[in-house]
Amino acid sequence: MRYHIVTLGCAKNVADSERIERVLGAGAHVAVAAPQHADVVIVNTCGFIDASKEESVDTIVGLAVAKKAGQRLVVAGCLTALHGEELRAEVPEIDAVFGAEDWAGIGAYARAVEPLRLDAQRYELPESAAIPLVRAPRPSAYLKISDGCNAPCTFCIIPRMKGKLHSAPAEELIAEARRLAAEGVREIVLVAQDSTDYGRDLGLRDGLPELLERLSAAVPEVPWIRLMYAYPGHVTRRLAGTMAALPNVAHYIDIPLQHASEAVLRRMKRPSNTRLVREMFAMLREAMPDIALRTTFIVGYPGETEREFEELLAFVRELAFDHVGCFTFSPQSESPAAREPAQVPERVKKRRQRALMEVAQQVSTIRNRAFVGREIDVLVESSDAARATIDGAPDGRGFVVGRSYRDAPEVDGLVLLEGEYAAGEFVRARVTRALAYDLIAAPVAAPVPAR
Ligand code: SF4
Repeated sequence: MRYHIVTLGCAKNVADSERIERVLGAGAHVAVAAPQHADVVIVNTCGFIDASKEESVDTIVGLAVAKKAGQRLVVAGCLTALHGEELRAEVPEIDAVFGAEDWAGIGAYARAVEPLRLDAQRYELPESAAIPLVRAPRPSAYLKISDGCNAPCTFCIIPRMKGKLHSAPAEELIAEARRLAAEGVREIVLVAQDSTDYGRDLGLRDGLPELLERLSAAVPEVPWIRLMYAYPGHVTRRLAGTMAALPNVAHYIDIPLQHASEAVLRRMKRPSNTRLVREMFAMLREAMPDIALRTTFIVGYPGETEREFEELLAFVRELAFDHVGCFTFSPQSESPAAREPAQVPERVKKRRQRALMEVAQQVSTIRNRAFVGREIDVLVESSDAARATIDGAPDGRGFVVGRSYRDAPEVDGLVLLEGEYAAGEFVRARVTRALAYDLIAAPVAAPVPAR
């Protein structure tokens, strides 16, 4: 059977799609690059906010319209938990719906679909045009350590869609990390809804530090194990000490804070004691003076006043994060926050987003400038010439695109590295120039020709 997966949403969904691919690969099914060449098209949906729900529905409808005779359209992922039946009723071209994480169900379905290839041939699906998808070796991969969440954030319905926290057994994660390392992956990015709660459901008190220790020992050849999606109340001294001590855990952490006004955080039902949040960052910087800190904020949460927004701006200046993401509040209609009466007008949200990103950019520029003249290791992401579109960068010729330990894939900055290198190479380089979000660097040793 030939299949094509369309992945919507965040890095956690990317990890889920890879899991589906592994299940289908084990059944000797083949991925193809385009939906029109597939016997089964799978849409891995996202339902985090109304806008992502709409994107998922639009994608499903588009594929339903283009559906070939004999082809199967399958919907999986977050959106199906609450809206599976509705989707089926509204889009009759959908052949099957699977709840989030129903890997076995998808595998069984694929096995049953196999005889349909005869029909597919009868309907003249273009066999010659079915191009098996050959994946390029990748420098970096996601490893989802748990799913679900126990937090009560008022703007989020992940706990309703994905259920309570459920952690993957460490043995399973170690086996997967080893498989990725054997594939040549040089960076493993740990993702979850709340990575710092890992193992609580398994009865572990220090689940994440223990997992990091085991992963670090299991794949010493992977230079960076990176931690995303930490929860402010769950970052412990033990975790910071473990990160500092392990040679291949990147000194980097992503802790989405969502806001910095205690009143807004209380309304969001998030950890609201900003003194503790400051202490947590101080503790992380004490354990790892070179740690890169990433966070994300929501502006325009219902009832957010100018004063509360100003508190947030001041906090961003004070904490000097390396990377800040900022979203305008976008309701998820089934979440309590969507029903709050004091919704903030869109234009106010946009203005606040611009203002916050200006401050974040000033801070990021200062942090980046501190690296000029310093040596860093650069993981080459793409052997293609660097994109010339990066503001203030050279014209892109003679550079490749990489990242330092300070930059997570897809969401943070880049390092433009002089020379020609293959994706996946680690290159020691000296930073020659700082841009607002990115760095420019030259190799310390003579460039090795790309293979
Ligand atoms: S911690 Fe994250 S996933 Fe959990 S409820 Fe809050 S926003 Fe949603």
